[in-house]
Amino acid sequence: TVLLRFAPSPTGPLHLGGLRTALFNHVFAQKHGGKWILRIEDTDATRTVPGAVDNIREALNWAGLEYDYGPGKGGPHGSYFQSERLDLYRSYSKKLLDSGHAYRCFCSADRLAQTREKLARSGLNSTYDKACLNLTEEEVARRVRAGEKSIIRLNDSNLPSRTTPADLIFGQVRDAHLSLPTDPVLLKTDLFPTYHLANVVDDHEMGITHVLRGEEWIPSLPLHLDLYASLGLQPPQFAHLPLLLNPDGTKMSKRKGDVQVIDYMRRGWEPSAVLNWLALAGWGQTESSSAKSTPSPSKSQSPKAAPDSTTILSLPEIIDKFDISALTQRRTILDPIKLEYMNKHHLMRLWNTPEGLQALAERIHEIVKEAFPTSPFTSIPEIKNVILSLQGRLMNINDLPRLVPYFFVDPDWESDEAKAMFKGLSAADYQRVTGAVVRRLTAAGGLQDIADILHDENAKSGLKPKPFMTVLRHAFTGMKSGPSVPEIVQTLGYERTIDRLKDAEL
Ligand code: GLU
Repeated sequence: TVLLRFAPSPTGPLHLGGLRTALFNHVFAQKHGGKWILRIEDTDATRTVPGAVDNIREALNWAGLEYDYGPGKGGPHGSYFQSERLDLYRSYSKKLLDSGHAYRCFCSADRLAQTREKLARSGLNSTYDKACLNLTEEEVARRVRAGEKSIIRLNDSNLPSRTTPADLIFGQVRDAHLSLPTDPVLLKTDLFPTYHLANVVDDHEMGITHVLRGEEWIPSLPLHLDLYASLGLQPPQFAHLPLLLNPDGTKMSKRKGDVQVIDYMRRGWEPSAVLNWLALAGWGQTESSSAKSTPSPSKSQSPKAAPDSTTILSLPEIIDKFDISALTQRRTILDPIKLEYMNKHHLMRLWNTPEGLQALAERIHEIVKEAFPTSPFTSIPEIKNVILSLQGRLMNINDLPRLVPYFFVDPDWESDEAKAMFKGLSAADYQRVTGAVVRRLTAAGGLQDIADILHDENAKSGLKPKPFMTVLRHAFTGMKSGPSVPEIVQTLGYERTIDRLKDAEL
């Protein structure tokens, strides 16, 4: 059965690239009836950041990407922290030593640096002169006994034959071996494994069938395959996901703002929209398939048309449509404008169901309470009405207080925006219209005929609809745009509508 893993190093908060990797692991596992593991690759203590594991778990939890095995969940292959599996890596390096696929190196850091420089100057594609490869067994044993520090290196002159690595997304990776260091380090002097050894050992020990990870690991792939071959193990299948780019085409990195998942959570984005956005980066119509206008008969067999980059998809829909062969190796820009578009649509989907609307109202309740702590109009039913009045105008729930403050507190008629609106109106018309509507509503005793009443009063006022509505909009909101006037009235409710008109008249 299919088993994947998302294997972040806890070197900082989870960023969008990591979330995308986790997403594809989740989707691939679900699609194939498999499972996935969260494995924490924390063997480099100098780079481990306190709190990073909690941050990663919080971000995955927010996104709704639930791993099957891992920290806090347990599972059959634990521990899921590499720092708790050190004996395992040591036993594997011993195996490699015994079979001659690895050797001890006693060279000092100084000597290694000098050697590297010398080799580079002489133009050799080599990073180590293999000086320790020729130590006799007796000498190695003597130096170990004497307590000399050593590292363990892979012996790349003793490898089973190398083949071109194959990748489910990148295809055949050519010249992949050229960038490898000479006899890469597997175990460090402190007896901690390097990333490569621990990664390969765990993927094997845990029974991983597919490795989905970022493109930045492609250069390590031949080394990983060398390790599998040296250990006589069958490697999993690999699929590397293309890099994500900033809108300016630069590489997204942890250091450049805006990439922490937790920030997206705090800024009020819908997790489903963020997943949708990430899923369609690098997946979707390729140039060739979008250029095809008429479906060719041979293609009619293909399971599902790939979504284009603006298709609105929930996580279950992503899983349903997912097909790894539709992933491209092109680097993709993560466009924030697209996220806004998707977020808006995910919000609309949400409030189209009673449960979705309820959940949304509860979240917005928190935001509104914070923005208008003394407002008496922030109950869940009132907030539901506000949401519904907004139709497609809400792009992000955090915008709501700024978009429609007048549903919670009195409008700010002194604002520049309100004053500018008022300037275009005549004070006499203003008084006439607001006064007339107050009288009509008082007589009507309710809002049931509001559309007719407004229509009628508009006709009587002798004003064109535009200035007539602007008077009322100014009175109700002090803001130029928003829901339609009848919608505003319905949302405010009968009494508040009358009160507000009276207040505005003054
Ligand atoms: N620990 C590596 C990282 O932080 C994982 C690479 C892999 O998935 O093999 O990205």
